[in-house]
Amino acid sequence: KFNTNFGQHILKNPGVSDAIVEKAYLKPTDTVLEVGPGTGNLTVRILERARKCICVELDPRMAAEVTKRVQGTPEQKKLEVMLGDVIKTELPAFDVCISNTPYQISSPLVFKLLAMPNPPRTSILMFQREFALRLTARPGDSLYCRLSVNAQFWAKITHVMKVGKNNFRPPPQVESSVVRIEPKTGRDRPSISWDEWDGVLRVCFVRKNKTLRANWLGTKEVLAMVERNYRTWCAMNGVPIDETIVEDGADEDMEVDNNNDDDDDDGGMEVDDEGDEAPEFFKEIQNSGVTAPKTKSRKKKTRVAELVREKIRRVLEDVTELADKRAGKCDENDFLRLLQAFNDEGIHFS
Ligand code: SAM
Repeated sequence: KFNTNFGQHILKNPGVSDAIVEKAYLKPTDTVLEVGPGTGNLTVRILERARKCICVELDPRMAAEVTKRVQGTPEQKKLEVMLGDVIKTELPAFDVCISNTPYQISSPLVFKLLAMPNPPRTSILMFQREFALRLTARPGDSLYCRLSVNAQFWAKITHVMKVGKNNFRPPPQVESSVVRIEPKTGRDRPSISWDEWDGVLRVCFVRKNKTLRANWLGTKEVLAMVERNYRTWCAMNGVPIDETIVEDGADEDMEVDNNNDDDDDDGGMEVDDEGDEAPEFFKEIQNSGVTAPKTKSRKKKTRVAELVREKIRRVLEDVTELADKRAGKCDENDFLRLLQAFNDEGIHFS
């Protein structure tokens, strides 16, 4: 009956449903967004406590099910069901988000909630245990990744409770956890651009266990992206671009990569590579629709490409002294210093 391709694992334990909705500390004036109501086990509890519940559901059968469940009850008029993929849906305003999240969309959902200009006061979300641990991982932890940095930069994340797989029908393969995400507000909310911040993190975490030098200087895609961004900044600020072709025999890309790949300072410990962004990221850069300037030939490099490379080197080695550090070990402060140093060099990421 349930389609696990849609992440349909229905909560069969009423105690867990009660606890999730209780932990949201709803006010009677709240508008709640529920992602994936399924048959409505959380929905009916939300409707008892909130002014309104907006559900976004991908599966028309489930949308019909939850609608039917409240039909003829006093709560009926408080429910609005939107049919579609929550990631692609433009969301109306809401105060609180509650979801027994379909695991396929865990990451995009968190990013979507965090990046909202007016994010919800609280989100209470059920995730696979490992994903929950990624959200709260600290520098040096094996699960620390771009998601950890972003989530903790923009929000306070707390682990609310563990939920065993037998509380679901059908049971998923792994254990779950409920987490609370409270976006920082007012003076606590960082006053920097989401895109700039995330742009730096994406490159740093291309391979989180390689040095920042290898990630920033060792891949042609990254160099081409930074050069493109620098060119845009120059165009906007009236800075001339030196297109002179310079002779350059050495293939520095390879040199950097070889020198810094695995000169190990992890004390011999191999940290797993999950959480690396490389393939997805390169596809994104390549598909971004902008043709990279022709700087790839070993013998035909423009002055501007050289300048960009020198700027990156300066940022990593001289200004921040982070060149030999790996993203997996960097904290929020390191990433902030990097972004500031890049911006000071006219390199932006949005
Ligand atoms: N809330 C119910 C419960 O706790 O019993 C069902 C939760 S079930 C884990 C996830 C629900 O999300 C399913 O009903 C599924 O159809 C729906 N869903 C899956 N992908 C979705 C998406 N991209 N956007 C909105 N809903 C989605």
